[in-house]
Amino acid sequence: MSERLPGVSTRAVHSGVAVDQRMVTRAKTLPIYETSVFVYDSLEQVDDFLAGNPDNYMYTRLGNPNTSALEELIRDLEGGAAALFSASGMASVSAALLGRLSAGDHLIASRELYGTTQSLIERELSRFGISATLVDINDLTAVQAAITPSTRLIYTETASNPLVRISDIPALARLAKAHDLKLLVDNTFLSPALYQPLADGADLVLHSTTKYLNGHSDATGGILVGDAEWVAQARRFQINAGGSASPFEAWLTFRGAKTLALRMRAHSSNALVLAEALQAHPRVAKVYYPGLASHPDHALAQRLFRKGYSGMLSFTLKGGLEDVDRLIRELQYTAFAPSLAGVASSITHPGKTSHRALSAETLSSLDIHDGTIRVSVGIEDAEDIVEDFIQALNRL
Ligand code: PLP
Repeated sequence: MSERLPGVSTRAVHSGVAVDQRMVTRAKTLPIYETSVFVYDSLEQVDDFLAGNPDNYMYTRLGNPNTSALEELIRDLEGGAAALFSASGMASVSAALLGRLSAGDHLIASRELYGTTQSLIERELSRFGISATLVDINDLTAVQAAITPSTRLIYTETASNPLVRISDIPALARLAKAHDLKLLVDNTFLSPALYQPLADGADLVLHSTTKYLNGHSDATGGILVGDAEWVAQARRFQINAGGSASPFEAWLTFRGAKTLALRMRAHSSNALVLAEALQAHPRVAKVYYPGLASHPDHALAQRLFRKGYSGMLSFTLKGGLEDVDRLIRELQYTAFAPSLAGVASSITHPGKTSHRALSAETLSSLDIHDGTIRVSVGIEDAEDIVEDFIQALNRL
């Protein structure tokens, strides 16, 4: 074989399978180790486990062959030193922040972070003496101005929700390094098939694997990949706090991740076709998709993402809530479901779901209106997706 690193599709299919070195059945892929505990023959084996032998397990909260296999697979795809799988994306966020930060520390976070992440920072971390400044992450001067002597890290999402604003990860990484800060990037909306923030200088990458990495809307999980010291701190926190995932969720996600590159190609090409069709419709006021030349971060997205712009887009109707409600009822294939990144297309209404807690002024300052709808474009045939939206819009 050549020295060249195999491609994302090849690694997604083959990485992690070798985790079960003791496999006796010759199963072609990794079976589910649905056990909470493992048996030891001797004290020596306990010593071996505690010395960190990766082929030795003790108790599933501490580790399990299925979670190890998934960690190895996503570690490989993101190109990091270590990985930690957790029971949900929020368990990963908690492990990343609470495993690393202490009372008196400060972090700078994008004001467009996922709502529950913001809530964790503002309502929970603050009770333990960890403070935060939320900024417009696309304004590097504002990010720099928020740095204090207590600042430890900068936290952003590759693409924001719902307007898919793109963070300039290379620039944020340079700023972080210059001030001896760490950069944490939630890459859920892109996935490593389209973008790898660690290669652009991020220290730790986070995913809600509930979304694209699993891709089938049937498993909940989260993963951290990157800096070995930070992942070890997160792992210690997770073992103590109890956010470990079940072997079955790890197995489902491992299975889902094998088709990641294929799915991301289909999500991305379908989203571009739908974005263009929506943009041309008289009932639509504005479309937000980084693959469109009209998006404010199109040039940045072109520079960072080489194989597509993912399947997430938003659009604002000329009408308000009544039209949104009508559209929900008229869509045939496309479910109204407040999650994203599954194989089936779905829509959600940020104002009534993820961003419900925000005041009308804040929503309007973020350019989120009554008529704003977020679409998670699935992998159905593009013409069927477009037809579904156009027939529904034509009925408004
Ligand atoms: N990060 C992003 C960008 C998300 O969209 C979500 C959930 O929607 C999360 C983190 C949290 O993930 P989970 O719901 O798996 O806890």
